[in-house]
Amino acid sequence: MNNHIFGRSTKGEMPVAAKGDGCYLIDSDGRRYLDGSGGAAVSCLGHSNAAVRAALHAQIDHLAFAHTGFFTSEPAETLADRLIENAPEGIDRVYLVSGGSEAVEAAIKLARQYFLEIGQPGRHRVIARRQSYHGNTLGALAAGGNAWRRTQFAPLLADTTHISPCYEYRDRRDDETQEAYGLRVANELETEILRLGPETVMAFMAEPVVGATAGAVPAVPGYLKRIREICDRYGVLLILDEVMCGMGRTGHLFACQEDGVAPDMITIAKGLGAGYQPIGALLTSRGIFDAIATGTGFFQHGHTYMGHAMAASAANAVLGEILDGGLLGRVRAQGDKLDAALRAEFGQHAHIGDIRGRGLFRGVELVADRETKETFDPKRCIAARIKKEAFAAGLICYPMSGTIDGQQGDHVLLAPPFIIEDAQIDELVGKLSTAVERAIA
Ligand code: PMP
Repeated sequence: MNNHIFGRSTKGEMPVAAKGDGCYLIDSDGRRYLDGSGGAAVSCLGHSNAAVRAALHAQIDHLAFAHTGFFTSEPAETLADRLIENAPEGIDRVYLVSGGSEAVEAAIKLARQYFLEIGQPGRHRVIARRQSYHGNTLGALAAGGNAWRRTQFAPLLADTTHISPCYEYRDRRDDETQEAYGLRVANELETEILRLGPETVMAFMAEPVVGATAGAVPAVPGYLKRIREICDRYGVLLILDEVMCGMGRTGHLFACQEDGVAPDMITIAKGLGAGYQPIGALLTSRGIFDAIATGTGFFQHGHTYMGHAMAASAANAVLGEILDGGLLGRVRAQGDKLDAALRAEFGQHAHIGDIRGRGLFRGVELVADRETKETFDPKRCIAARIKKEAFAAGLICYPMSGTIDGQQGDHVLLAPPFIIEDAQIDELVGKLSTAVERAIA
């Protein structure tokens, strides 16, 4: 049965999560699971953070909810200001929602309304990449390129096309430098804009480090800068989806800060509430905000729970822990250790083709043959087996079978809490190694 449906028959089919304790989850039978993926890159502070708990206790005594049709609130204003202060250049306004898909939907609609306001109604198309996941609501699903998720719901909303991802391990030619590869693959955006007609293209959307569909694949240096140039050349908005890779996960508050690129919009969620509250945000530039403020004066979008005071207070505590508690440096340090431990364990492994990522956002890609990079037969369900074996060994990780241009591949995404200790890194890699051996046996 689908594990997202609750009630009647669900209990007994899977363990009941009873308690969180730092980097561990504990089930109702007392079994402990090391959280090697933060769920899906959510629990960046671990599971029982004292500062977030205190913030939530304090907030519930004052205010839980006030509808944004009538009020703003202290926690929402504080959160928006702090995000703006620490965001890439040009980001000036924040739209608070309840999760990642909502943030992406808001980005698509804001882009559309922006072009209507400035008198360019013909710009309605979104270009994204084949290797991407942007959420599960209809607009976000249409933007994402993952065939497996899209196919069964086709036809999706029109006007979205997909170009190649920046996927060095599989696509860079032997005779090509990293830089030349980055430019070649970024230039596909220009070709696509010209093919569609620039006057019809509204936005390009991408994750700076691809998460769920790829297993922490960062863009090569220079790729995003070229993307930015192309967007500017044709008046196309650049939307970076940092729902998974944002909020310090890569060692920078926003992943694109490492690439030195300032987008027009950024979406965040997951690590913003860190699992303590459901919250997401769309960050946008001053220019987009002003066009709407001086036009209709009203972004024609909204959800009941946006700007929720409890959710915003949790996010304020999370941001405080990350920025004031020195966690960005810790992510980089522990990320380097995780990378080193993965390389020591799997660097020569016959079935691990690639080890990659940034900060505490890491991935390993499995291959049937290391030399040819041939993938495992999808019927072997290697990713699903790793997930099962790891869980049985007491490790939560995020294996996925990626569908890239119709090609199956298996990878494991790792995104442990930022508080992970050295010994827990060893435990994670040891348990993952056990799971990999059992899955491919
Ligand atoms: N964008 C990206 C990059 C994601 O990884 C996800 C979730 N995996 C989403 C959007 C959707 O977020 P949510 O599940 O909170 O709706």
